[in-house]
Amino acid sequence: MSEGTVETLVIIGSGPAAWTAAVYAARANLDPLVIKGAPSREMIPGGQLMFTTEIENFPGFPEGVDGQELMKRMEEQALRFGTRTLEDDVASVDLSQRPFVLRPAWSPEVRAHAVVVATGARANWLGLENETRLAQSGGGVSACAVCDGALPAFRDKRLVVVGGGDTAMEEATYLTKFASEVVIVHRRDSFRASQVMQDRVLAMPKVKVRWNSQVVDVLGGDFITGVRLRNTVTGEEEELECGGLFVAIGHTPNTAFLQGQVELSPHGYVKLCLPFRTETSVPGVFGAGDVMDDYYRQAITAAGTGCMAALEAERWLAHHGVEGAVPPVLETAESSVGLAQAQPTA
Ligand code: NAP
Repeated sequence: MSEGTVETLVIIGSGPAAWTAAVYAARANLDPLVIKGAPSREMIPGGQLMFTTEIENFPGFPEGVDGQELMKRMEEQALRFGTRTLEDDVASVDLSQRPFVLRPAWSPEVRAHAVVVATGARANWLGLENETRLAQSGGGVSACAVCDGALPAFRDKRLVVVGGGDTAMEEATYLTKFASEVVIVHRRDSFRASQVMQDRVLAMPKVKVRWNSQVVDVLGGDFITGVRLRNTVTGEEEELECGGLFVAIGHTPNTAFLQGQVELSPHGYVKLCLPFRTETSVPGVFGAGDVMDDYYRQAITAAGTGCMAALEAERWLAHHGVEGAVPPVLETAESSVGLAQAQPTA
């Protein structure tokens, strides 16, 4: 990458979606550049899996795999086929120009014929010191019950879920499979979750609710032993013993740099134009992984959509005759879908 050159394909992100897109793009000779993000206090390149320890549900790892190890291996696989990387954040983009213009926070401007946005979403956290420490060390604090709930450490324990939205209801429901008791801690006296979901949860014998309560501290050394609760009405505090804390207070997609450039959902997720396609409202820009998915949010689904985005980008580039991009072998009866609306890239 040097000033004046135009990249064929830039992939923004460094989670499972980004690295899978890079593996596919590199093997298709698209010479991809991955802008993988810069380490900061709340984000490290590699995405949310960098905050988990054991991953038991990623196929191909019957013994489980450490989240950081999985990301390292995905990156190595992408590098093996010639993927180049830039450790920087994309601060802003201009997608109205072709080639597209990407402005990193520190590095020189990058121009690209096609872009895969795979910047993910970050779980919202309460912001407590011990919460961060134990989430990063695998000490029983998590923001994803489906990812972590089945781990042996959480079996037959009292588990606390924080939040009052649909995600909290889902997490609590899922955790009843493993926990001896699930306590939902919510800061108000009513949930905001859909009625049907709250009714289902409240009818479960294992589920208890602490209304008007806020978690103000997480207790424990290497592993969580409890939480300190503060009543939001009376201000009274008490300790509640538990063997796990699941924070379910929403996610924030990493799309601030895309504002006004690509169509976003009301919650800020990248909107895709067609079912089972990854093209966004801007032809030549594709979305993959949690940045466009507020429903599945799994490493394996992110990887799958990363593959889809790379194949679509490859097809799109070939369709527009961008140098180096030869038509992919994968063609279907619908191969023209999503291309008709495309604009020339140069
Ligand atoms: P959400 O609806 O925004 O709910 C977040 C919850 O966390 C709220 O109850 C909020 O409390 C609480 N909260 C926020 N900040 C907090 C803090 N600092 N301390 C304590 N509590 C805090 O988020 P979500 O549940 O992740 O859902 C996001 C969207 O996805 C929603 O539109 C939801 O319907 C959708 N979704 C749908 C499904 C489904 O249909 N199967 C599943 C999951 C999510 P307050 O209520 O007091 O604000």
